[in-house]
Amino acid sequence: MREVYFIDVKEGVPVIEKLDTLLEKVGIDSLNGIVTLKMHMGERNNKTFVKPFYVQKIVEVLKKHGGDPFVTDTTTIYKEERYKAMDYYRTAYAHGFLPSYLGCPVIIADGLKDEGVQVNEKVEIAKSIYDSDSMLVVSHATGHYPSSFGGAIKNVAMGCVTKKTKMYQHEVTRPVRNPDLCTECDKCRAVCKQDAITEDHELILENCIGCGSCIGECESGALKSPEGMSSNLQKRLAEVAHAVLRNLPYSNFVFVNFLMDITPFCDCAEFAPEYITPDIGVLASKDIVALDMATIDMIGKYLFKGDPAVQVREAHRLGLGELEYEICGV
Ligand code: SF4
Ligand code: SF4
Repeated sequence: MREVYFIDVKEGVPVIEKLDTLLEKVGIDSLNGIVTLKMHMGERNNKTFVKPFYVQKIVEVLKKHGGDPFVTDTTTIYKEERYKAMDYYRTAYAHGFLPSYLGCPVIIADGLKDEGVQVNEKVEIAKSIYDSDSMLVVSHATGHYPSSFGGAIKNVAMGCVTKKTKMYQHEVTRPVRNPDLCTECDKCRAVCKQDAITEDHELILENCIGCGSCIGECESGALKSPEGMSSNLQKRLAEVAHAVLRNLPYSNFVFVNFLMDITPFCDCAEFAPEYITPDIGVLASKDIVALDMATIDMIGKYLFKGDPAVQVREAHRLGLGELEYEICGV
């Protein structure tokens, strides 16, 4: 039974006033040296990422306990405003993640040239995350296309690695095409930003990032999601999260999930059209499995598309943590 600490918004005390207690109870004093503060700073025009207001407080508490944090994320495989490190810096600053405000540096962890440290055949950990001494993973709990749920496991698996390892995970989300149904309307080519569809509407697999945009445009049903996509992607998330957490040269981690502004899509979406449930609060644990399990249970499994807990059970099977947890209010 693992401890998961909880700030309950229903108690009426602003979350910011209880963050230091939450972090101290979960054991933030174990994070020392250079601390990776892993965030998702939001795609340009996204409004629901965890706000710098909270991150500033987290930085303050880390520093009070002797840590030397930097706020970080990695570049994306899709071509928007975080695809290149220079664009991500501009997006982060536009969203208020300014070093002068946060009280610590902001570093795009895979650098200007998507640099990583290869730890097995499939997985490269972003260089700055590998080179730090401990890690605090702050995640915004959301629904996610196509993995059903995004929390701490997804933040580590997709967010702590280079483009090559992101591509490895997204391989299983590439569409399948039935040429017999294709009407050659060209809509898939118009929407694909990766040049992954030929003039004959064949898929160029090495270019395809499995974003699913073309599937949404294909009215004839010629393009479809592969069978078992969500489950297969979630298993890859768990596999990569395991590779990251077991191959970093340190093992002192703390995980924090914000169950606020809970949207059906992750913060890579430019617009968050709706919330799937009212704000719940903030959870923290040293056990990534217990934390994501508690997060899904509190939001409600039925609010996600598909089974959101495949990744959690798989991470447990791989030995990353326990499914049983105890909620400890702060
Ligand atoms: S959107 Fe579908 S029907 Fe239209 S060209 Fe692409 S695959 Fe064919
Ligand atoms: S899923 Fe479709 S739109 Fe997305 S990169 Fe692949 S071919 Fe292009």
